[in-house]
Amino acid sequence: MYYNISFDIAAILVLTVIAVGMKTVLYTDTRGHKLMLIYVISVIVSANIDIITAYTICYGHMVPDPLNLILNTLYQYTTVFSVAVAMRTILSYFPGASKTSVIINRTLLYIQAGFVTLNIFTGIMFRFRDGYYAHGPVYFAAYIISLAVVLHMLFVVLKNRSGMPGLMIRIIILFLFLPTVFTVIQMIAGNILLIAFGEAFSALIMLFALETPDYRKLMKTMKELEAAREEANIANNAKSDFLASMSHEIRTPINGILGMNTMILRDSDDPQIIEYAENIRIAGNGLLSIINDILDLSKIESGAVKLQPSDYELSSILNDCYQINRTRAAEKGLEFIFENDPDMPSGYYGDEVRIRQIINNLLSNGIKYTEEGSVLLKAGYIEDDTTKSAGTSGDEDDKPGILKISVTDTGIGIKEEDFDLLFKSFSRLDEIKNRHIEGSGLGLMITNQLVSMMNGTIDVKSEYGKGSTFTVMIPQKVTDRAKPGDLAARFKEPVNSAAKAADIFSAPGKKVLIVDDMKMNILVFRGLLKGTELTIDSALSGVEAIRMTEKTRYDIIFMDHLMPEMDGVEAFHRIHDDKDNPNNDTPVVVLTANAIVGMRDSYLEEGFAEYISKPIDQKKLLSVTKQLLS
Ligand code: ADP
Repeated sequence: MYYNISFDIAAILVLTVIAVGMKTVLYTDTRGHKLMLIYVISVIVSANIDIITAYTICYGHMVPDPLNLILNTLYQYTTVFSVAVAMRTILSYFPGASKTSVIINRTLLYIQAGFVTLNIFTGIMFRFRDGYYAHGPVYFAAYIISLAVVLHMLFVVLKNRSGMPGLMIRIIILFLFLPTVFTVIQMIAGNILLIAFGEAFSALIMLFALETPDYRKLMKTMKELEAAREEANIANNAKSDFLASMSHEIRTPINGILGMNTMILRDSDDPQIIEYAENIRIAGNGLLSIINDILDLSKIESGAVKLQPSDYELSSILNDCYQINRTRAAEKGLEFIFENDPDMPSGYYGDEVRIRQIINNLLSNGIKYTEEGSVLLKAGYIEDDTTKSAGTSGDEDDKPGILKISVTDTGIGIKEEDFDLLFKSFSRLDEIKNRHIEGSGLGLMITNQLVSMMNGTIDVKSEYGKGSTFTVMIPQKVTDRAKPGDLAARFKEPVNSAAKAADIFSAPGKKVLIVDDMKMNILVFRGLLKGTELTIDSALSGVEAIRMTEKTRYDIIFMDHLMPEMDGVEAFHRIHDDKDNPNNDTPVVVLTANAIVGMRDSYLEEGFAEYISKPIDQKKLLSVTKQLLS
């Protein structure tokens, strides 16, 4: 029998060049690279033995049968070995591949090696007799198992392909199939030795496409980055959860402190004590706002914050922001100026609470970081030109224009190189200079996140030492085109006495029930309603509340949400759903330290009459109580 060995010789030449190249200029110190090099060398060895056996088979009558058997068996072993290394090389690209796939792969190769070994004693694959080479009954076993290995590996590659570049997957598939195709051709052609050539060809493609040092390094770096990102995500989620639960835990005792303090402020006549208590109030509120920021941030980061859009009146938000910050500015001796475009629309559709928060954050920073001069709040609306020209009034408001709010201060300013840090959490600039200014470094981060949730933008212009302007542009649909006129004039009007008097009322003979598992909260609650002449009963648990409501009819029930055993929501439903309970239609107000925006709506949907967040604001409590009693 005569064999054509020219392709084997070509393969040996090409593979030798590849091996030298891989060892020198293309060297990378990775597992994949080492495996690939072993593969190339093993194919060189097997091609050499293939050539030798081509001759020993051809000149069988001059070669002892046992030697021929040994050489051919050796060839079979080197083939199994090179397939095994090729599979390992591929697996090195898929570190996520399951252990089972590795085991299946290995088992198939062991079976193949087992057949080769068995053949030595039985001749089931091939044998030599009197110098003649003859195929045995399972001659194709080795080829079929090789094919099974390739198919199985193809399955592994496709299963683990997500996240890998498409080109890489295609090259690996080519690496798997080229030798297979050449093997099939050899089986058909019979006497042309093509397998090593197919292997050399595929090794060449693999080398240029994937085994270059840059590609391997890139892959390694990408994997490391991915792992680092995953770790960072896990750590960040743990941080958010921790912050959320901590801030919730902290709000509860602050509630007690601030509530008690309100009573000291109200009941004490001693100016010294009032001053101390006033300081507790300021510090307590500062602490509370930091806790709220942390809670907000962790909710935003975990994606729990959803915008709650509704129709709103911008002047009402601006008025609130104006009144709160005017006092703060006045305390620091700063001029506080407000300007608005008198022709801008009055009503919009959007998340009122979050817009108020954004404006307040910017204003409170402006005042915080300004020692002298002024803080200017400006509001305007930029129409979307395309909608304006759309004509009819009905269509006009479909596309949102842009609400533009800016805050300009004459404060310390920001260095240009610090602009990037502004919106990062917990980052505070000029730490030394700002040491005496309270802050957590969260306000702008939250502001930025909220603005981007609304598809808006925030822009900073600042000159270090001179002052800054923060401008937010938020797309908002218009719901009311009425012109507000000059709002500044309206805001400056003195608060009328009727509004002040609205807080104070007396309702003798009316009965309310407060349900809270903390005695101190009940004490605070009683204190806040002191002077209203209401009869106030209290219960320390949901179960006790149910018992009391079965006996006495109340005008309002105030129910804490989080209580051990039975929480406020369950107690509320038990009372309202019980036909025999005289309080099954009594308005129930939920009290909660769960001050996340959006909670109010979910409580109202639950059936509660109102929602009051803790620490309870006395004004809010009085107005809610008065409204529900009337
Ligand atoms: P903080 O609670 O520290 O005020 P912010 O996130 O609101 O946190 O702001 C981050 C940092 O940006 C501040 O610590 C401050 O250094 C700087 N900064 C914010 N607003 C101004 C401003 N109007 N003028 C100067 N610096 C500012």
